Amino acid sequence: MSDFLPTGIQLTYLVAASLFIVGLKKLGSPATARNGNSMAAVGMLLAVVATLLDQHVLNYQMIMLAIAIGSVIGAITAQKVAMTDMPQMVGILNGLGGAASALVAVGEFWRLLSSPEESIPLDATITVILGVLIGGVTLTGSFVAFAKLQGLISGKPLTFPLQQPFNALLLISFLACSGYLLVTPENTTVFLAMVTISSVLGILFVIPIGGGDMPVVISLLNSLSGLAASAAGFVVMNNMLIIAGALVGASGLILTEIMCKGMNRSLPNVLFSAFGGGSTGGASGSSATAEDKVVRSIGSEEGAMMLGYARNVVIVPGYGMAVAQAQHSVRELVDQLERLGVEVKYAIHPVAGRMPGHMNVLLAEANVPYPQLYDMDDINPQLEETDVALVIGANDVVNPAARTDTGSPIYGMPILEVDKAKHTIVIKRGMSAGFAGVDNELFYKDKTMMLFGSAKDMVAQLVSEVKQL
Ligand code: NDP
Repeated sequence: MSDFLPTGIQLTYLVAASLFIVGLKKLGSPATARNGNSMAAVGMLLAVVATLLDQHVLNYQMIMLAIAIGSVIGAITAQKVAMTDMPQMVGILNGLGGAASALVAVGEFWRLLSSPEESIPLDATITVILGVLIGGVTLTGSFVAFAKLQGLISGKPLTFPLQQPFNALLLISFLACSGYLLVTPENTTVFLAMVTISSVLGILFVIPIGGGDMPVVISLLNSLSGLAASAAGFVVMNNMLIIAGALVGASGLILTEIMCKGMNRSLPNVLFSAFGGGSTGGASGSSATAEDKVVRSIGSEEGAMMLGYARNVVIVPGYGMAVAQAQHSVRELVDQLERLGVEVKYAIHPVAGRMPGHMNVLLAEANVPYPQLYDMDDINPQLEETDVALVIGANDVVNPAARTDTGSPIYGMPILEVDKAKHTIVIKRGMSAGFAGVDNELFYKDKTMMLFGSAKDMVAQLVSEVKQL
């Protein structure tokens, strides 16, 4: 058994890693995502069981207790968290991942120190250093991101003079300490200084970034938590941890890239430009009324007539629909329109809402058939032939300034071109700006009708009006 165990464990790790990779691939399409998620979960179960069977793991009672407590907390919080609060939840999970990796590094350092016959090998010191740096930054950075999104601290970028040079100085101090530790690995004071510096760096890295950019930061920290896990894997020589960490690291980076592309901004711009001022949620963004412009406001009855007598309608959901949790009413509205023979499609912008896939998840929750969802590139050419585009709580992702106004902060961001539809109805509560804090020309166009009110109430009113047609 003892001869077989290491090979058996490595083979199980291989199977688990394969399940992770295939599972991740399947997450790429909503049609296979559920299946992919289950495969990855089975992979994780195999990885945990294999690790428990490893003879290095001694105290099963403690492990079982930890798994039980963790599972209960995880299950309860996952059930309770609202979809709009998901970025915060991911933020906390990243932070805990970073903490675990940093603790592995600290624990291993102490273990090496307390075994007098072993001199600390160079490669072990290097991996411990990486674990402390990445784990520490991920831990404190994620918790600051969580606090900003949750409104526990101001979402505004917190800046002070010479902030970036100061951060650079801290990083250089960390590197200097690392060099010192490589030469004198038993120096605990230097080691503790490194733990402190990495924790402070995490805080200072995130505070100058605006609350609205936190989803991107969280995705980047997610990637870092993967790298931290990988570093921890090297520390304890565990192949599974190395592979799983690398997968998280790579996928987090890809997600970050997708978000930046969707906003037409570079990662350095997100991290260092203090963009998005004070808007943490979009709904409370700066008011953007312009006295000399005319806004056409309609009631739900008129809106229902326009929709009910259209040949085709394209629905554009945005952050406001998510906040109002209007997706079920939207589905009901579409059912009613289809009853009248109207062809309805949903147009999904890659960064609509506050995280990638936000709209897809909400609409899936309301059982909207996936083939009715169209990506931006597929729906844009069809918008000119669309009778009514119904924008529900979206703003920046339909702002024509992204196409026309070179001075706009969102210039160049790809948008859903609803201004090209024959008519546009926009549901929102007032004239407030969206996340980017800029006015939207769409609201003043001749073809645009504003239906003012909360998304859920307005869509519910439309449903009852359309029912009477
Ligand atoms: P926006 O943030 O541009 O606009 C949302 C609009 O919803 C607001 O103008 C608000 O207007 C309205 N609203 C708020 N609450 C309600 C409600 N209860 N009922 C009806 N309307 C409501 O949202 P978009 O989805 O158009 O754009 C997303 C923005 O977030 C983009 O700028 C994107 O770059 C950014 N972002 C997205 C990320 C992602 O991955 N998805 C990541 C990071 C940033 P009013 O107050 O008048 O009702």
